[in-house]
Amino acid sequence: MLCRIHEGHLGIEKCKRRSRDAIYWPGMNADIEKMVSTCEICLKHQNKQAREPLITVDLSKYPWQKVGTDLFHFNGKDYLLVVDYFSSYPEIALLSNSSSACVIQHMKSVFARHGIPTVVMSDNGPCYSSSEFQDFAAHYDFQHVTSSPQFPQSNGKAEKGVHIVKQLLKKASESKSDPYLALLSYRASPLEHGASPAELLMGRKIRTTLPYRGDMKQDVIKDIAMKQKALQQRQKTNYDKNTKRLEPLSKYDVVRFGDSNHWDREAVVLEEVNPRSYVVRAENGQVFRRNRRSLLKTQETSQPLDDPQREEVQASSQDQVPLSTQASSSIAPDNDHSAGTSDPPVLRRSLRTIKKPDRLNL
Ligand SMILES: [Zn+2]
Repeated sequence: MLCRIHEGHLGIEKCKRRSRDAIYWPGMNADIEKMVSTCEICLKHQNKQAREPLITVDLSKYPWQKVGTDLFHFNGKDYLLVVDYFSSYPEIALLSNSSSACVIQHMKSVFARHGIPTVVMSDNGPCYSSSEFQDFAAHYDFQHVTSSPQFPQSNGKAEKGVHIVKQLLKKASESKSDPYLALLSYRASPLEHGASPAELLMGRKIRTTLPYRGDMKQDVIKDIAMKQKALQQRQKTNYDKNTKRLEPLSKYDVVRFGDSNHWDREAVVLEEVNPRSYVVRAENGQVFRRNRRSLLKTQETSQPLDDPQREEVQASSQDQVPLSTQASSSIAPDNDHSAGTSDPPVLRRSLRTIKKPDRLNL
């Protein structure tokens, strides 16, 4: 337990605060003092100077409102650090290079996790002063403040964060212990006011290798547990409903199919060859046989008459009448209403603009 308490090689006070929440034995504080003060790794990496003068950091009002960022080098590799002003919670990412693009990509990943801060503080390093980074700030809608030569201190939070994280990594590497547990231990250890960075940022205590009682107020847990149960029940009911039977397809129904989870190919149903088994013709004219489960019926029936590939399909099958009447009849009433007179159907169809689906490209 003493070793676990000292995970990450944090200082005496922090170790005491960390243990207090989790465990007790008579003489525990004395044991911690003795252990930490004689720790080889800690002695070696003790801060040389006494205490640096306190940098007055303007306090942010809530977690992740304002973050500091910096790059650092450790064991031949470049890292990105992002640290929250409110909670002091550090995020780090290994960079494959120190280009602006790489830094931005990892910052996006961090922001996807914790949200986008209002203010990002950094120094004037090339990756931060680039126009790419300016575009990133505009696109993600945050204010980017860089430290000026007159006031280099303004990135103090990130510099302090780099110092802390580097110490954690150095000590972990030298003691051949797990650097992730070291990071975890820092994030989960109470700061001087009694709450840990994780608690401030996430609103809950996170579990470490020390005994853990869970967290969150009981009524909150009960409430959420009940909501989750209700949701699960609803999902099951919906699922059961959907498993009953898929609606049979008719000739000329427009469907989508593809591999695994992607409905990326469009096709027209030609015929049902077996129960729940259909022959379909894809946009390029290829014919496939697919089970009903692999065919997604879409509402694209009145679609791309101006799509050349689609016209090919239409041209290739002789009796396309049902599709075209369907198409014109489905839009005709609206148009007649607004226009009053009847326009030629061809014109109506060509006015329809087809929006391609937006796909997530990660
Ligand atoms: Zn130590």
